[in-house]
Amino acid sequence: MGRLTTRLRELEIATRPEHPDLTAALAARWAELPAHVRQPNQMLGRRMTGCEGTHGVFPRCNLACTPCYHAREANRVRTDGDHTEREVDRQMALLRATRGPGQHAQLIGGEVTLLGAEDHARALNAMLRHGRKPMSMTHGDFDYAYLEALALDPQTGEPRFRHLAFAGHFDSLMFGRRGLRRPGGEADLHPFRQRFCEMFARLREEHGVTSYLAHNMTVTPRNIDAIPDVLRATRDMGFRMFSFQPAAYLGNESRWKDDLRAFDNDAVWRRIEQGAGARLHFRAEQVGDVRCNRTAHGLHVGRRYATLLDEDDPRDARALHDFLAAFGGMDFADGGAPLRAVRTLRAITRHPAVLPSGTRWALRLAARAGGVRALRRSPPQAVTYVMHAFMDARDVTPAWELLQRGETSDDPRIRATQERLQACSYAMAHPESGTLVPACAQHAVLDPLENLRLQELLPLARRPR
Ligand code: SF4
Repeated sequence: MGRLTTRLRELEIATRPEHPDLTAALAARWAELPAHVRQPNQMLGRRMTGCEGTHGVFPRCNLACTPCYHAREANRVRTDGDHTEREVDRQMALLRATRGPGQHAQLIGGEVTLLGAEDHARALNAMLRHGRKPMSMTHGDFDYAYLEALALDPQTGEPRFRHLAFAGHFDSLMFGRRGLRRPGGEADLHPFRQRFCEMFARLREEHGVTSYLAHNMTVTPRNIDAIPDVLRATRDMGFRMFSFQPAAYLGNESRWKDDLRAFDNDAVWRRIEQGAGARLHFRAEQVGDVRCNRTAHGLHVGRRYATLLDEDDPRDARALHDFLAAFGGMDFADGGAPLRAVRTLRAITRHPAVLPSGTRWALRLAARAGGVRALRRSPPQAVTYVMHAFMDARDVTPAWELLQRGETSDDPRIRATQERLQACSYAMAHPESGTLVPACAQHAVLDPLENLRLQELLPLARRPR
């Protein structure tokens, strides 16, 4: 009887739309958000607890970016697979305990492919063990043999990962890429972007390993006007997300070039819209603070881009509300089809209004996409456009120090920085103190000291005389 009760209890939990740990983590996240971001369309605390990234696990990189958010000392730290796995494991354990299961986490440092394929695989497995959805952040300058070695079990030759997620950082502010040491402009990189996507297409063809690819680009006055062309040229290459980072005065000071404040976020977003060929409705959903993040989901159908949610249509806002009330943080990729079906049923039972409002929303979306005929003619491609605007170290440092003392600044600029840090959607874990830290604070305040310690722990090998 006891065993039956346990089994029934396990089944009840497994068929909930959300794991109870996630339910608790979402509630805690919502409770800690500052009032100004607790909007009806806020995703933090409702749909997700936030994005995550690793730090201090492989700080070194073999390309040079201008700007580079990593501290000057990062390149004096040896890449070491055992250290990486151990630290990733500790950081992810804290994130699992604090943020619940199923959240997106970037395996990010320096350059991830400076790890051998085995060490890279060990790090990904550590993230998966703690219920994260890992994405490897790379400059993309590696070969197919490396990707294959990462994806396949060396003993059996069979895939050890069924799916890989990678973010490829490609822009003309990066120097030292093989075959393109000094790009003359963004267009010079198109063949490299293409080659990156082709490696993953080949991996799928030869081994059945699927992938999710994001394209990351830092934006400065040098390349802002190239954004529309980059998007038009890369639209059909295979990227599912295009993420733009207006450059900030953060990290290695010797890599700060140009007047990085010569344009505002609206200017970047306008160029992204030009490239996407459509208005992008970033006010439909909010992830943290809109001064940090803009996100627009939609479908490319032929040459048309249909926004998933129209920010001017209250019916779409209602549909989002009903979706969140029914499904919350449910992970539609987790578990087999029967399990997902039962979870869906339970979600609808929890909030039945989702059915009529969801159906009407789907019809509106189909109309925006050009109707059923257009959808039949050109299979829709889900593409997300993102802008993530890091903050300057000169603002983050005092804002963070005051927050640590529980104080609010009187200076409006520092106060705004504090508000953004409190609503941060991109956290890094510190198991030694049991705390999560915004990536801005990590790079502005904590990285330099952390890298000095790592430099002692993992010195670069001396060259033989
Ligand atoms: S506080 Fe910094 S790291 Fe966090 S979301 Fe805002 S810009 Fe990103």
